[in-house]
Amino acid sequence: MKTIAPIAIALLVVGCVEKNSPQPQEDTPADPNGEVNATAEPVLFVANGLNADGSLVKNYHRGLQYAIDYFGNYGPYYVYLLGPDSEQSVREIYRQRAMTRINPGSRFPTAEEQVEKFLNLPNVAAEIKSVLSGKAEGGLTWTQESPILYEDVTTNAKGREKDPVENTWGALHEYHHVFQMAHCDTKQERTSEKNINSWMAEGMATYSSAKFMDNLGLVDFQDYMLELRKSGANIARPGINEFLIATQDWQLDNESYWDQGRSAQVYYMLGAWATAYLIHVQNIDESVVLKKWYHDIPQIGKSAAFEKHMGLSLAEFYQKFDTFIRQTDDEIMVIFP
Ligand SMILES: [Zn+2]
Repeated sequence: MKTIAPIAIALLVVGCVEKNSPQPQEDTPADPNGEVNATAEPVLFVANGLNADGSLVKNYHRGLQYAIDYFGNYGPYYVYLLGPDSEQSVREIYRQRAMTRINPGSRFPTAEEQVEKFLNLPNVAAEIKSVLSGKAEGGLTWTQESPILYEDVTTNAKGREKDPVENTWGALHEYHHVFQMAHCDTKQERTSEKNINSWMAEGMATYSSAKFMDNLGLVDFQDYMLELRKSGANIARPGINEFLIATQDWQLDNESYWDQGRSAQVYYMLGAWATAYLIHVQNIDESVVLKKWYHDIPQIGKSAAFEKHMGLSLAEFYQKFDTFIRQTDDEIMVIFP
């Protein structure tokens, strides 16, 4: 989990793809095609003390349903909206979470042993502690071994409850990651042909969630894209403009920024603008950029899939985008209709 200025959505989304705590159980390979269980409905677990008036779930579901309608149903997907009010409820939910992770093909350890093992993992015990102390953490997690599943965990969902817009926004963002991960081999490095780069994951999810929020009438997409340049919007500080003045040598496909404290500017913000470039300058259909090209990644790798669908190589794209993004706000905003 990256620590970035704690502004609303950052708590929900920053570092989510990076935060990956799979619990290896057996030797069944991950399914990079993501068709593991295309019929499973997402399951929401809500701790006692939350959702008294139903709005927490309603506003989460508004984003989740939009995203499923757009990307298709991938899963199993479990959503955990947790809070500190009832320890008993939280512990019961974690037990149920452990049960979703039981590998049915394994007789040894037994199902009950697998449950206990999960609950006693140091990172799980620490997460339960965070929940009970009201700490806001979380993001997307997935398994890389059988059973393959995806989880969106919010340790303190009280913030989400009070902010319907960010709640919906976060649900949209995370589900784009579910779709992405279903088409990647996440056991591979992000530089690998079978996995996507961080800018593709975070940039495209930042773009899509803002665009879908606009489609839902909840934010103004063009204002948001401009704010990513000016202030950094709900991602982090500083925004793109200030970052570019201070940093001449950034590269979208450099995967080391997670460790250098620059991931928000490069992967989320410049990544969102890179997505905008593909759609509004290269004139590639939005659904191709956000969705269709991913389908070819497992078969032909991301470089070939990118070139096939975007009409230019990744190398050409990086060069063109570098020139494009260094223009002024006025020059750049004309790409939007
Ligand atoms: Zn994300």
